[in-house]
This record gives sequence, C-alpha cells and structure tokens, in this order.
Amino acid sequence: MGKALIIGCGGVASVAIHKCCQNSDVFEEICIASRTLSKCEALKAKLENKTKTKISVAKVDADNVDELIALINEVKPDIVMNLALPYQDLKIMDACLATKTHYMDTANYEPEDTAKFEYSWQWAYKEKFEEAGIMALLGSGFDPGVTGVFSAYALKHYFDEINYIDILDCNAGDHGYPFATNFNPEINIREVSAKGSYWENGAWVETEPMEIKRVYDFPEIGPKDMYLLHHEEIESLALNMPGIKRIRFFMTFGQSYLTHLKCLENVGMTSIEPIEYEGKMIVPLQFLKAVLPDPASLGPRTKGKTNIGCIFKGKKNGEEKLYYVYNVCDHESCYKEVESQAISYTTGVPAMIGASMILTGKWNKPGVHNIEEFDPDPFMEELNKWGLPWKESFNPDLVE
Ligand code: NDP
Repeated sequence: MGKALIIGCGGVASVAIHKCCQNSDVFEEICIASRTLSKCEALKAKLENKTKTKISVAKVDADNVDELIALINEVKPDIVMNLALPYQDLKIMDACLATKTHYMDTANYEPEDTAKFEYSWQWAYKEKFEEAGIMALLGSGFDPGVTGVFSAYALKHYFDEINYIDILDCNAGDHGYPFATNFNPEINIREVSAKGSYWENGAWVETEPMEIKRVYDFPEIGPKDMYLLHHEEIESLALNMPGIKRIRFFMTFGQSYLTHLKCLENVGMTSIEPIEYEGKMIVPLQFLKAVLPDPASLGPRTKGKTNIGCIFKGKKNGEEKLYYVYNVCDHESCYKEVESQAISYTTGVPAMIGASMILTGKWNKPGVHNIEEFDPDPFMEELNKWGLPWKESFNPDLVE
C-alpha cells in the first residue's frame, strides 16, 4: 500500500519498525534513516528475513534540511515518520513541505536551549501544509497520542460535553537500577524537572515541580503515588474538547527516582546551561545522559506493568456521566515480542498505527492536526489488533 521513511532508530523507532514489519500489507516498504547508520543496519539485518516489508537504510542528520530533502527525493516515501527527538520536528516538517510529503511525530517541538514545549511552532505550519495538500499528524505516541484518541472516542460515543479529564500515566515496572529513565534521559528529565501545570477555566495554572501529589489505585497494578506534570496534550485537548473545564496529567514516580532526581538537580547535573569543562563546553544534562543506562538496555531487566488511561467526567442528555478507558501493558511480554520495554512499546505501536491511518487514507485532512481531531474508531480497533488492547469502566475511582 505504501512506503514510509522512518527517521530515528532509538527505543521508540525500533518498536515502530518491528510493528511496520508485522503490518506489511500497509507498510510495503520502509527506509530506516538515522544519525548512526550501524543501528539501522543491525535492525534491518534482524528483521528482513522475517517480513514481507522491503527494508532499506540510510544515514541522515535530521538537523540539516537539505540532507533531509535529498533523502526524501531519493526514497520517495508516502510519509515521513519522525521518531528522532523533538528538536528535529521543524526541520523535518520543512523538508516534508519542500517535497510535499505527509509527516507524523510523537512529541512536540522543543528548542534545544529552552525546556519549553508547546504546539505554537508546529501549529504555525498549518496554512503551508494545507496549501501543499499534505498533512502533519502531531503526537501519535501514547501520551500524547492514544490519550487524544481516547478523548475523541469518549466524546463521540459517551458524552455531549466533557468537563473534566484526568490523564493517568502509571509505570509500575522495575528495572533493578537505582536510577534510570525509560526513554531518552535528556527529554525525560527536562519534562519532569519543569514546573507543573494544568488547564482550568480557560487558563493555565502553574505549580512547582512535583508540588501536587495524589495516590491512585490503578487497575491490575494497585495504589501508586503520582504527581501532576505539565504535558503537551493538555494544550490541544483544551482547544478540541467542547465544554472542557479542567485537564490534568499525573505520572507515577517511585521514591528512589525522586530522591536521585532531587540530588542530581541540587548538584546542577540536570541543567541545560552549557558550562566550560577542561577547555570544552558541555551541557551537564547531556553528560548525565551519557553516564545513565541506555533506555534500550532496560528491556531485558524490566518486570511489571504500565497502566495509562484517561478518566472523563461530563454530561450526556443532561445527566452527569463518568468514563475511564485505559491500557495495561506488560514489560516482559513486550520484550518477548519486540525486545523493548513497555514505554517504547506503548509509544512505537501508536506511531505505526498513526502512519497507517494516513497511508490507508482513513485519515486524510491536509494541514497540521492533533490526533483527537480525527475519527477515533479505526485507531481504537487497531490498538486492539496490534498489542495495546484497552479496557473501560463506567464507575471509576476519581482523583481528588
Ligand atoms: P532515543 O534517544 O532512544 O532515540 C532517538 C533516535 O533519534 C536515535 O536513533 C538518534 O540517533 C536519533 N537522532 C537524534 N538526533 C538525530 C539527528 N539530528 N538526525 C538523525 N537522527 C537523530 O529516543 P526514544 O526512542 O526514547 O524517543 C523518540 C521520540 O519519542 C522522542 O521525541 C520522545 O520525546 C518521544 N516519546 C514520545 C512518547 C509519547 O507517548 N508520545 C513517549 C516516549 C517518547 P543516535 O542513535 O545516533 O543518537
């Protein structure tokens, strides 16, 4: 049916590539292109005899628009799947515009020198993408991603208006290290050390990092401490959900993770301000990334489950209604299937599904769009098919 150019070959990309290769009817051809060619070659060698999908590889620096354009012109993909880092989003969007190629990603643009993530930079491309007749699907991971699809599904099937959304992200996995991050450490630490915020009555309410703590009894996991964070899907859901009054995002953290993070912050290791060290400028957080375990190495060691979902409160036919929809994913089962832990898995599977929505023409709307703007039903069906089945409850415990 189509050809995808996949940029990046890290934890998330590796899962998405495995899944594209399982879905060969849609992904007839893929080209894996990243900064380190050897990683792309190793993955190709592992998969090419087990799939009908034709795989090629290329080396690309996605910070260089001309290089990207040359690669897209050579490969001629129907879609570019951006599974590199948020810093590359705009460069890859520029290259897609120049070559009139559809685009998707899993995380919104972040300038490398400021830990600030918001959609404004990417939404600014809306008209240009419309004029070029191509679409950009923003945030097709789990959160953002499936959480937006869950919201669209809740609105379509159960509510006239949604007033409250709590997004709950629980990782109860144990990798046995005192401190490690489950995806790119630099991106992860920037996210959790930033101030928290939530949307209430049409405005952002800002909190200190980890200021708001709650305990939630997660289905199939049990009670866990969780903390309110800023998260990018709040910004788009606030625009796209009619009647919304409040949206919050909570993520679970264990005490060991928090104690290590506080200590690293206190000594300056999480800073993104460059410092001079032995005549060379280094960014402390990038140095920290280099000494922490590679998230890809956590796969074989991680045991336990994740539970990510959304609790909705709103109205149907004038009556108050509750709805909770979530996915539970098991780290060890993910590793058995694709040799990755559940955090990469829960992001890589929706990345493949998002791209397949575009390749199959199920979603087709030129412009720049967040995932909750599309019909959620075909995506929800594919989640069940490709390893992320979801469950529902109509009388969940609420978060205070
Ligand atoms: P990794 O660090 O494991 O992988 C990133 C990949 O991008 C690596 O292969 C890296 O190459 C490549 N890369 C980085 N810079 C460039 C560049 N300039 N040119 C070409 N390739 C480059 O990260 P993850 O796989 O953990 O995360 C990938 C994305 O997924 C991130 O944007 C992250 O924010 C997002 N994410 C989204 C989630 C969601 O639910 N929506 C959840 C988790 C992550 P090299 O190997 O050479 O370093």
